[in-house]
Amino acid sequence: MNTNKKIMVTAALPYANGPIHIGHLAGCYLPSDIYVRYMRMRGRDVKFVCGSDEHGVPITIKAKKEGITPQEVVDRYHAMMSDAFEEFGISFDHYSRTSSDQHHKNAKEFFMNLFEKGALEAKETQQYFDPEAGQFLADRYITGTCPKCSYDEAYGDQCEKCGTSLSPTELITPKSALSGAKPELRSTTNWFLPLDKLSDDLRTFLKTRENWKPNVIGQCMSWLNAGDGLQPRAMTRDLNWGVPVPIEGAEGKVMYVWFDAPIGYISATQELLPNDWEKYWKGDDAEIVHFIGKDNIVFHCIIFPAMLQEHGDYALPKQVPANEFLNLEGRKLSTSKNWAVWLHEYLQDFPGQKDVLRYVLTATMPETKDNDFTWADFQQRNNSELVAGFGNFVNRVMVLTHKYYDGVVQEPGTLTDEDREVLLNMAQYGRRIAKNLEDFKFREAISEAMSIARLGNKYLQEQEPWKVYKQDPVRAGTVLYVATQITAVLSIVFEPFLPGTAAKLRSMLAMDTLPEWKAIKNETIIDAGIKLGKAELLFAKIEDSQVEAQRTKLEATLVQKEEEMEENSHAAQKKDISFDQFMEMDLRVGTILEAERLPKADRLLKFLVDTGLDKRTIVSGIAEHFTPEEMVGKEVTVLMNLPPRKIRGVESQGMLLIAEDADGKLSLMSPKSGTPSGSVIR
Ligand SMILES: [Zn+2]
Repeated sequence: MNTNKKIMVTAALPYANGPIHIGHLAGCYLPSDIYVRYMRMRGRDVKFVCGSDEHGVPITIKAKKEGITPQEVVDRYHAMMSDAFEEFGISFDHYSRTSSDQHHKNAKEFFMNLFEKGALEAKETQQYFDPEAGQFLADRYITGTCPKCSYDEAYGDQCEKCGTSLSPTELITPKSALSGAKPELRSTTNWFLPLDKLSDDLRTFLKTRENWKPNVIGQCMSWLNAGDGLQPRAMTRDLNWGVPVPIEGAEGKVMYVWFDAPIGYISATQELLPNDWEKYWKGDDAEIVHFIGKDNIVFHCIIFPAMLQEHGDYALPKQVPANEFLNLEGRKLSTSKNWAVWLHEYLQDFPGQKDVLRYVLTATMPETKDNDFTWADFQQRNNSELVAGFGNFVNRVMVLTHKYYDGVVQEPGTLTDEDREVLLNMAQYGRRIAKNLEDFKFREAISEAMSIARLGNKYLQEQEPWKVYKQDPVRAGTVLYVATQITAVLSIVFEPFLPGTAAKLRSMLAMDTLPEWKAIKNETIIDAGIKLGKAELLFAKIEDSQVEAQRTKLEATLVQKEEEMEENSHAAQKKDISFDQFMEMDLRVGTILEAERLPKADRLLKFLVDTGLDKRTIVSGIAEHFTPEEMVGKEVTVLMNLPPRKIRGVESQGMLLIAEDADGKLSLMSPKSGTPSGSVIR
């Protein structure tokens, strides 16, 4: 281990539009905190930064919904997240926010650096514009039907149902999230990072990383090796909330939120160390480790490294140990659906028990595949592993030492082979835990740490100091001396995982400072003659009623969701229109002459329809419900006078009318067989 290295640890900037839940904790905040606490105990030069990500469209949408300013939204959640992290013991050296002056200044400098080098390409593209709200609709400002899965609330940047990453123009029947208006395409200039031209450099970057998780490398390679490869990506947006783009001709534009957010790590370090920050970000000694969840892999392993490479002054990330997703009671965690265990609520419902959640989340961390959090498992792990295992061992050592020796650790007599073996084992455990922590295998590490408590219990059970004491108080004192050393080792190895418990243990063991990690190797950590502190219980049993209350809370969320679904299934009647408006619709009977699938679009069928008036092309997103073969010859209802629209390069001139039942099953609106094409419907 090269100890001159400056280790820069970052945890993904949480989005300031909702509170923190257990999925966020298991994804990156807990693993990063464990890693940093361990590195500090090794005496390594490590800095740990994070902050609220306060830009981006969801924040402005939330503000609009609640009738407050975006600044008020981010102020509320920044305070909430920052408090919850602190209370949960996430030991950031600095928790910043991307609305800070330092960040705006730094992000602008970074942007200008790339711009002046010619690393950003200006391009005029067609973007959706809301004529009612008078603004362009980036990312989540636009919703519509997903072309992949037909989900009708897909966003302009992603469909949350099927996970596909989208661009706004791919949405079927796009709608402004601001006004509900039908958006129109207008041209605008934005600045693009030409990822296509940077692919070779990125490939080299990824090939030279060592010991990356296979899931992380695998995802990156699948993008690089995809059919069309990487595409240029817009780094600016036509928006008014974010870091303003500092170049001429870009008035009213801000940086893409994923351009400025990772620069936020650098800004936070500048705020922490105004004079020394560069050592952690530049040069051969800088060792940058980004802790993230798997949904952020593309931004940290492709886009940000590409930005850093183009800038040229910065070191590239050494490790990005991304975790997979944590589920809750078998369902995907979701902020918008309120399917979550919220950190601030947990801290209220289980006062003084933050370490229980830290323990369970670490023991079930989704390191290589998705994992499930259940309240039954939470209760079981607490009651049998923490209370009956770890807590019981420590309590026996403390209580017996107080009972027989007035709390004073005894001078050991002759050590038996068993005593020596147990003590020797401690150093081995220490090495194995350290290796796992350095390899980002936190589940393995905490499981090894728990084995020490199990070994302690086994040792006491075999040596039975409570029986031995009557005949041989020296031997009983020796056993308790050995057991006290095991307890001291527990206070060291659990510091990264359960810092509150470790601190309590140290005070019980009369250790006034946190020892270095290497103290595990010492034959004696607690000297004979030391008087131990008061015995306190480390963990409390979690009752059935407590987990029952949590499950009830979740069930209430489900019931509420089902009721909403039911309401939606019989959509409410729309607002009245005039008779004239109805008469403006040109509805006619048509006959389908030809039907085929549109290449590369799973959802779309292309039809040639005889309308009586003409033969026209109509594209419809119904390919999952009907085959082209069964459609040919069918009589259908055509809405004739919709303006023509380009869908996947094909101009669609009208729309086929479809009925959809509550289960999403579609049927064609077909007139009685034999109705001639061109018959007018009214
Ligand atoms: Zn979808």
